[in-house]
Amino acid sequence: MKSVVVTGSTSGIGLAIATAFAESGANVVINGFGAADEIEAIRARLDGLGKGRVLYHSADMTKPHEISDLVETAVEAFDGVDILVNNAGIQHVEKIEDFPVEKWDQIIAINLSSSFHTIRAAIPHMKRKGWGRVINVASAHGLVASPFKSAYVAAKHGIMGLTKTVALEVAENGITVNAICPGYVLTPLVEKQIPDTARARGISEAEVKSDVMLKFQPTKEFVGVDEVAAIALFLASDAAKSINGTHISVDGGWTAQ
Ligand code: NAD
Repeated sequence: MKSVVVTGSTSGIGLAIATAFAESGANVVINGFGAADEIEAIRARLDGLGKGRVLYHSADMTKPHEISDLVETAVEAFDGVDILVNNAGIQHVEKIEDFPVEKWDQIIAINLSSSFHTIRAAIPHMKRKGWGRVINVASAHGLVASPFKSAYVAAKHGIMGLTKTVALEVAENGITVNAICPGYVLTPLVEKQIPDTARARGISEAEVKSDVMLKFQPTKEFVGVDEVAAIALFLASDAAKSINGTHISVDGGWTAQ
């Protein structure tokens, strides 16, 4: 039975990925913020989906020692981390000269450095088994930029570099390291940035959705969280064993432009 860790899985894309792995019968460690009773309800629901067990760990992705404890908890409970999904992420939308220094540091920590810490801790356990999957939830913003998202775009471009580098280091150990690059997915992360983007650009919230977010997404539709989860399941399968050090875009054609 596979052991899966999904960071930032109490909401949105991470929750969909953790749900898909729980349904597939894996043991899963979920992580992320939220009200204790809501998190326990999510954990219990996922725990009932398949044959595996589902645990929750509260590690804050800005804190390296808590991240190590997350990985160690999975190793102790489920004899390793076979599949590591680095998904936790936040956003802040502001022009560069007003961008708060502490937001920059927080976004780099959560959206980039946390993956260094999880990967660093998990790889020895994957090597021990001669099998592993690292799946980094990057973004179309790992490939192209948009204004007012300096920290996010820098972190997501960084995760693409980390993905390629580690992929080369572990390629002979039965381990693959890849990224998923979604376009706009309507999750709480996106909903929260609509008012800020409206303010930064001086337009209405409806115009943010139609003219900013979906402007470059040729399908003119948000991507579904289940579509991203399906890619994670595929990358974790043996059918994807030769896919390494690359990304799969799920962006409705955004980065084809
Ligand atoms: P979301 O806000 O719905 O979920 C984010 C998750 O991360 C939550 O579970 C939250 O509690 C957790 N989290 C936040 N800060 C944390 C911290 N310090 N420690 C631990 N957990 C923390 O967001 P989402 O849209 O589902 O985004 C998930 C990932 O997908 C992010 O990496 C995001 O950049 C990426 N992404 C999202 C979109 C989109 O349009 N929604 C597009 C491309 C990429």
